[in-house]
Amino acid sequence: MEAILASNNKHKLIEIRKYLSGKFQNIYSLKDKNINIEIVEDGDSFLANALIKAKTIAKLTNLPTIADDSGICVDALDGAPGIYSARFAGEPCNDELNNQKLLKELENKNAMDASQRKAHYVAAIVIYFPDTDTYKYAEGKTYGTILKEYRGSNGFGYDPLFLSDDLNKTLAEVDLEEKNKVSHRARALESLLKQL
Ligand code: IMP
Repeated sequence: MEAILASNNKHKLIEIRKYLSGKFQNIYSLKDKNINIEIVEDGDSFLANALIKAKTIAKLTNLPTIADDSGICVDALDGAPGIYSARFAGEPCNDELNNQKLLKELENKNAMDASQRKAHYVAAIVIYFPDTDTYKYAEGKTYGTILKEYRGSNGFGYDPLFLSDDLNKTLAEVDLEEKNKVSHRARALESLLKQL
């Protein structure tokens, strides 16, 4: 069986192929299938957004479609930015502005102690099967604290501010291999793999 990933993100493609290649002969990217569309992610949860992406691409390709949606949830901000993580500081997505906004919002809440700056990343992964109109779903989380200053230059997004509970380093201070040992996406993929 073949499948497609509803993304062109190279990191996601490598990671998802690593976990799921035993289950599929081939996992295509959107580029492989010449698909170039903007999908409006207007769901109200990580799962809803992942399903919107998966169903849209499955309709175009008739292939089992893998999609993910992820973000960071900060306790002191009642779980924000959550599903709005990519565009927290507005469109177009900008990691630096998102991080600055996160620091500002925590300052506004007077959340200055580590105990008040707890956060977790969430990754939702679905695989949607168009022939049966069914899907499998898995979620992974990883926990940490939002620092007041950046540490490290690896990773992306909120990684320089996210001090991992598991690693006691930010996710920007470790390489991808180390990040993947504890990452929300790796945990979601492991869980999905068990269901296939
Ligand atoms: P998406 O799932 O590709 O739409 O990503 C959502 C957003 O969540 C990203 O743009 C980042 O801001 C944030 N995010 C998700 N996963 C990570 C991660 O592993 N590191 C840093 N930021 C992340």
